[in-house]
Amino acid sequence: MALERTFSILKPDVVRRNLIGKVLAKFEEAGLRPVALKKIHMTRAQAEGFYAVHKDRPFFGELVEQMIASPVVVQVLEGENAILKNREVMGATNPANAADGTIRKEFALSIGENSVHGSDAPETAAEEIKFFFTDAEIVG
Ligand code: ADP
Ligand code: MG
Repeated sequence: MALERTFSILKPDVVRRNLIGKVLAKFEEAGLRPVALKKIHMTRAQAEGFYAVHKDRPFFGELVEQMIASPVVVQVLEGENAILKNREVMGATNPANAADGTIRKEFALSIGENSVHGSDAPETAAEEIKFFFTDAEIVG
């Protein structure tokens, strides 16, 4: 087992519906600890840069619009095998396929407005943490 850090976003659909606490509880119950956390309103440039890997996908425009429509919470989660564990707690991208008890099963509105983002690998976790946080903001 390895202590890892991963990057997570509570998307606009969560913040708008006042569900920050309920979603954070899911991570905490799974043994993931927020070691940095802030509420921001993403700029278009930030959203386009963050999701650049998806820029040629048909849903890119809609994804960017959804992410900048209203504030989000960005956070760094720490725990044993945090990267994989976070993905498990999140559930499948499409909430119709998400397992019982997962965040997306309980809270997601659609495949686009699916409540949370989570890094998918160690490399992306490191890049995504750096995209939104300085080292000084992370207090494990
Ligand atoms: P995940 O967030 O599970 O890692 P992806 O990296 O494949 O999923 O996609 C990034 C985000 O783009 C998804 O969380 C979702 O908000 C949006 N998205 C993915 N696929 C679709 C789709 N087919 N239609 C609309 N939005 C999508
Ligand atoms: Mg992804």
